[in-house]
Amino acid sequence: AAIAQAKAVEPKIHSYVTLDEEGAVQRAEEIQKKIEDGVLTGPLAGVPAAVKDNLCIEGQLTTCSSRILSNFRPIFTAQAVVNIQKSGAVILGKTNMDEFAMGSTTETSYFGPTRNPHNPEHVPGGSSGGSCAAVAAQECWYALGSDTGGSIRQPSAFCGVVGLKPTYGTVSRYGLIAYGSSLDQVGPVAKDVADCAAILETLASHDVKDSTSVKREDIRFTDALKADVKGLRIGIPKDYIGEGLDQEVRQALLDVAKLLWKKGAVVEEFDLSLVKYAIPAYYVIASAEASSNLERFDGVKYGYRAGDYEGLHNMYKKTRSEGFGPEVKRRIMLGSYVLSSGYYDAYYLKALRTKALIKQAFDRAFEKYDVILGPAAPSTAPKLGESLKDPLKMYLGDIYTVAVNLAGLPAMSVPAGKDSRGLPIGMQLIGNSFQEKTLIRAAYTFE
Ligand code: GLN
Repeated sequence: AAIAQAKAVEPKIHSYVTLDEEGAVQRAEEIQKKIEDGVLTGPLAGVPAAVKDNLCIEGQLTTCSSRILSNFRPIFTAQAVVNIQKSGAVILGKTNMDEFAMGSTTETSYFGPTRNPHNPEHVPGGSSGGSCAAVAAQECWYALGSDTGGSIRQPSAFCGVVGLKPTYGTVSRYGLIAYGSSLDQVGPVAKDVADCAAILETLASHDVKDSTSVKREDIRFTDALKADVKGLRIGIPKDYIGEGLDQEVRQALLDVAKLLWKKGAVVEEFDLSLVKYAIPAYYVIASAEASSNLERFDGVKYGYRAGDYEGLHNMYKKTRSEGFGPEVKRRIMLGSYVLSSGYYDAYYLKALRTKALIKQAFDRAFEKYDVILGPAAPSTAPKLGESLKDPLKMYLGDIYTVAVNLAGLPAMSVPAGKDSRGLPIGMQLIGNSFQEKTLIRAAYTFE
């Protein structure tokens, strides 16, 4: 059914970079046999899934939606993918994304944009736009995404699906092609909160191959699937409902707050004004790390290499000039600039200090609240083409998501109705480190 649906809607939506129909049917048959033989059990056995194209799968194209990796077939599989494979996922293919996960609309993909299944004139969000569109259009039952500054939560909001960015260190980054290593986390995109909890349960694991992987004790996330928020303390940052927030999104937020209050939660507004520095700090840190991480794409070891060059330096230059798109080049230049001597202290170091202050502000907030509630994005999905014209405006659209990554916190995006144009609205729940269960419980109550 998933393959038939993908074939029917792909010409319009373009969620996938690679759709592996034959491989998927073969895997499904193997898994079916294992299920019948009783060697594979569990809720995810045989469920069709999709994987963002920045997660390596051995022998399969893994492009990061970039020309520079357009022919890259890794020799190993990302740990997050191994985990879902062990649970019996039938992986249908690799999903489209913004090039190297840099963007908020999936329009910076070398392979062309993905469209929003709710209205193809609009973007699906990004950078995990392919994963979220694939779930929304029922081209798979769940998908993996990655979130460096909102890339799971914002497209989940735009596509009307549930997305969760786990606490930093919960899901192994081994085999995830790095963007901003100190911020990147892999997470699930699903149709509802219960599915999301079950997938997270399989994704979370300690991995010695990722030095930032955390050994967590209680990862039975499905235990938290109880519609009960009695006594839960919920804070709404004043800065998250003020200027710049679309009226309909604001109303949806107030409706969710009211519902949670009616069910027994304590809901109040509070001051988190430091988050206004999150965007500049995030774009300095993420670009700095990206400029370093993307050095390896030089045409020597793997990926695209330009033809017709004169000498080694000219080969590097031509390969990178032809291989990277404009948004990636912008980030590499910005990142190299803020790391260069003379500017390091003024930009990079200052951004790190800001990051520490933001973490402290969240620590203080979590002394008073169990959950922070806010929108996932300032508006619903914009039309195709609107965001590419003005990169700065696109960066500002990440206002509600990037602080979470700077602080390493878990957060999820949950559908909360639609706007008057029929486009989904998503609410964001932010929790203290390792408190995914609290988020799942609150989300389960209002979804
Ligand atoms: N939109 C943000 C950026 O472009 C976030 C991307 C992400 O989370 N990968 O950097």
